[in-house]
Amino acid sequence: MTEIGIIAVGGYNEMGRNMTAIRINDDIIIVDMGLRLDRVQIHEDVEIDKMHSLELIDMGAIPDDTIMKEINGNVRAIVCTHGHLDHIGAISKLAHRYTAPIIGTPYTTTLVKHQIESEKKFGVKNNIVSLSAGGTLEITKDISIEFINAQHSIIDTVFLAIHTTGGTIVYACDFKFDRTPTLGDAPDFKRLKEIGEKGVIALITESTNSGRNGKTPSEMIAHSMLRDVLIETEEADVGMIVTTFASHVARVNSIVKFAEEMGRIPILMGNSMERYIGTAHQMGYIELPESVEIYGNRREIDKALTRIMEAGKNKYLPIVTGHQGEPGAVLGRIASGETPYKVDRGDRIIFSANIIPNPMTRANRYSLETKLKMRGARIYDDVHVSGHAYREDHWELLGMLRPEHVIPAHGNIQMHSEYIQMAEDAGYVLGDTLHLLRNGEELYIEEE
Ligand SMILES: [Zn+2]
Repeated sequence: MTEIGIIAVGGYNEMGRNMTAIRINDDIIIVDMGLRLDRVQIHEDVEIDKMHSLELIDMGAIPDDTIMKEINGNVRAIVCTHGHLDHIGAISKLAHRYTAPIIGTPYTTTLVKHQIESEKKFGVKNNIVSLSAGGTLEITKDISIEFINAQHSIIDTVFLAIHTTGGTIVYACDFKFDRTPTLGDAPDFKRLKEIGEKGVIALITESTNSGRNGKTPSEMIAHSMLRDVLIETEEADVGMIVTTFASHVARVNSIVKFAEEMGRIPILMGNSMERYIGTAHQMGYIELPESVEIYGNRREIDKALTRIMEAGKNKYLPIVTGHQGEPGAVLGRIASGETPYKVDRGDRIIFSANIIPNPMTRANRYSLETKLKMRGARIYDDVHVSGHAYREDHWELLGMLRPEHVIPAHGNIQMHSEYIQMAEDAGYVLGDTLHLLRNGEELYIEEE
């Protein structure tokens, strides 16, 4: 008999700081250790790299893993499904407390290594193991993990399958079913169905966009929207600036390609652009044209902006950080007139991003757009598609895996309730085969 415990550590009451522990008898696999960024941002001048875990737990910024002391068992692995901060951002604060390797895809583990290097409070010495999508790794003689290719808004995202003697547990936190991705392969539907046929004990899946109708549009749609705004225009000579998620490698890759097509030099600006895109390039996930320039620090950025003003704004396409109005990011500094780049009437600012729905980012974004408009900028917003599955994608996932138990994760209670309604439509029963977990709770499942 196999006893399974699903322990909701973080990310079940909120968006961010995701962490789930999965106990198979006495062996535990931790999945994700993330950060909740808005809990850090509300405090001015917080230097997270110097802070202690307990302080960050009190702030609600990282998962409260002190509950792990009550759980009987040994942690055998820490698995990260992708490189977003809400999945890996607490590794440098929590991983050193466990004698277990950190396992992720190659891009994810490289980001994890960067994060550990920038940590100033704790020494994280866990082994870091890369496992590519499609790969399997034995954890104990009874447990193995498998990475199944997925798509999301960052490259090298995977579904995690934990194979046990009693059946498989699938963790699908953060995915979209993109059959026409602009980078990487479509999700491995064949493998998902095979796993479904063999028997899935439990599915833990994100509820984030389960309240949105239909299916998530493909990244190919965002690609077309960008083409429409950047190339299909009668004003091809005006100043244009694009801002997007630095970690969205496929999106940045599309924008760089459009810059070439426009006969402009793409310039990536911002610390995180350098980190995410530079890393993806070095690792061979994307090819960049010879002409591309990447600048992380403020002095270099301002020098490049001076050059743009001298040579002509129509010769360059700056791709910058700051789409959420983050103070200190490149676009915010441009909007405030703190850089050599002067916005003229008719210049285009293209937001290839949504507004992250919390009051603070809404306020920051409002202030940013207003400042830009006061300088005469024309705003193109929401040139974007989501990286999270919509309701009917979730329906399809349930159809392929047919899990005995379903647990929504990665969302607040409104998002979970949307997921629960969809799962009830699929025949699941709340409290029996469908489970609402709150941070700190453990669900027990016994398998013959
Ligand atoms: Zn994500």
